[in-house]
Amino acid sequence: MTSLPDSTTTRMSALDDARQQLADAAMHLELPDGTFQMLSYPRRELTVSVPLRLDNGDVRLFVGHRVQHNFSRGPAKGGLRYAPSVDIEEVRALAMWMTWKCALANLPYGGAKGGITIQPRDYSRTELERLTRRYASEIFPIIGPERDIPAPDVGTDENTMAWIMDTYSVASGYTVPGVVTGKPLQLGGSQGRASATSRGVTHVALAALERVGIEQRGARVAVQGMGKVGRDTARFLAASGLRVVAVSDQFGAVQNASGLDVEALCRHLDSTGSVVAAPGSDALERDDLLELDVDLLVPAALEGAIHEGNVDRIRARVIVEGANGPTTTQADRVLNERGILVVPDILANAGGVIVSYFEWVQSNQTYWWSADEVEARLQARILSAWNEVVRLAAERRLSLRAAAMVLAVGRVAQAHELRGLYP
Ligand code: GLU
Repeated sequence: MTSLPDSTTTRMSALDDARQQLADAAMHLELPDGTFQMLSYPRRELTVSVPLRLDNGDVRLFVGHRVQHNFSRGPAKGGLRYAPSVDIEEVRALAMWMTWKCALANLPYGGAKGGITIQPRDYSRTELERLTRRYASEIFPIIGPERDIPAPDVGTDENTMAWIMDTYSVASGYTVPGVVTGKPLQLGGSQGRASATSRGVTHVALAALERVGIEQRGARVAVQGMGKVGRDTARFLAASGLRVVAVSDQFGAVQNASGLDVEALCRHLDSTGSVVAAPGSDALERDDLLELDVDLLVPAALEGAIHEGNVDRIRARVIVEGANGPTTTQADRVLNERGILVVPDILANAGGVIVSYFEWVQSNQTYWWSADEVEARLQARILSAWNEVVRLAAERRLSLRAAAMVLAVGRVAQAHELRGLYP
């Protein structure tokens, strides 16, 4: 009953993983094949040319996408990624995961994602501003506070959001702060948004350690990726008494068995641009970090970090997915068989979009909450999703990923059914 009309790719891509997860949930939910097919494909997607005038006067062409996977529960929501890996299939997978993430956190949103295939660190700030403004004006017809609300993702930040907000507002003729989230505070951003994903990862990681009976104080942690998610996760976990024994970035990894000084490491990262050669650390091969004997592993980089080729060497007892899609379908099966607890991305990293929702609510009402209020509401919402997932997993003897998907897909399918199929 879960057959797809076509299967054009042979290698397992992020999109294959996303569709396989959906197929598993559809089977548990006994979804009609038509509903499954509808949820397997994006509702709408736009691919645009983004010509950029470089600082030296030359023009270079980039390709951008915005994929809106689903609107059944509300406007589409999801980040914008600038990375060399971006292609339409990756954006489709990421958009689908956003639909499930929003539904699982009970946010009134569907899912979307955008991307431009570019290595942003090779371009100046003024070039990135022109690129962003041109992309924003190309996707203008399909975004908006009631349609689709972009946010930061890999390679983008609050400046990117400010430029999109401004471009959209100039074209509209008035200021529209609710068109993006992850804006600078001065432009209507929310307290706590910048560190929200990491706060959420931390809440869920502590709950997961407690569930498997690992003492929080002194628990050994490895964090892959020191970007928007990994960096603050390492800081918050260290502040909670865990021992961060290794971290990595795209250039390499460092370790210290008695615990890295995470604050000193962040200062080193700020001044050199990498964790490599941080004081008080020993060098480690970048990808060996994933295979360390630790209590908790937080993959917080890109898709496919844990795969068929390294899964047998993973020794962590708990994995909390800070990144989107860091575990391939095959690797996920092996981890489950080996009894390693995997907290899935759509639950573990939902803190970012949860506080994006709070920012959108605040922007739309022009009424601002305190940092404490944001943090308390984030904690309550993500732990309530955690409790729902754990309960269903125990009741139906499912992995946490399968349970999270059953809850999320079930909510989206139910919204679709209640609205009915047009015409
Ligand atoms: N890019 C983030 C994610 O993957 C946040 C999306 C949002 O806030 O809309 O969840």
